[in-house]
Amino acid sequence: MKPQDRRSFLNSLTLVGLSAALPLPALAAGKVKPAANSALIVVDVQNCFVTGGTLPVAKGEEVVPVINKISAAFENIVITQDWHTPGHASFATTYPGKKPFETTTLKYGMQVLWPDHCVQGTDDAALHKDLKLPTAQLIIRKGFRKGVDSYSAFEEADRKTTTGLAGYLKARGIKTVFVTGLATDFCVAWTAMDARKAGFEAYVIEDATRGIDLNGSVAAAWKQMAAKGVRRIQSGDIAMA
Ligand SMILES: [Zn+2]
Repeated sequence: MKPQDRRSFLNSLTLVGLSAALPLPALAAGKVKPAANSALIVVDVQNCFVTGGTLPVAKGEEVVPVINKISAAFENIVITQDWHTPGHASFATTYPGKKPFETTTLKYGMQVLWPDHCVQGTDDAALHKDLKLPTAQLIIRKGFRKGVDSYSAFEEADRKTTTGLAGYLKARGIKTVFVTGLATDFCVAWTAMDARKAGFEAYVIEDATRGIDLNGSVAAAWKQMAAKGVRRIQSGDIAMA
């Protein structure tokens, strides 16, 4: 049946006849089915960002079972890892007299200063041991230049240096990304917004993220993401079949 025939056919149905005449829909209402050209991006689910780590996000570890579960719906999975040098420009300890969560101005603009975290090669920087993503195809590391931070998986904080992720995804024909991980208001939000900037459709799966929330930064991030066309969904919205 051609689409226009189908429409007029549907229009001609009465409400009573509708359920009997139509085949069952493949998906429940509102479900999102990741396609072959979709990728799951799992941002910074590392020891540093969960309870016991150097920059713990409250309840950060709770994203692990959610991400493990939804990963089965994706053919393509990319993992990111915050991966800093010792003495990194984003560390408060690099600046005498500065404390974590204060800010400073670097060449590329304002920088929040963090406790030392995710130092290259340390156990703190390792992926969470319970993250089970055997089908993941790429681990992209970011923030590895001593003088530049990188919240986004796509572009470093100087807004000039690319991580190469957009090129990789495009070369593989990926059109849509689903972003999960830590933290909602920093690396997840920047990754999702940069995905939009690079031309991808972008979803953030809210219950597969947790935020740091400095002065209302989680609410602000959702607002900014919405303005860039990032869609906010829950893991239950993903069609798993
Ligand atoms: Zn970092």
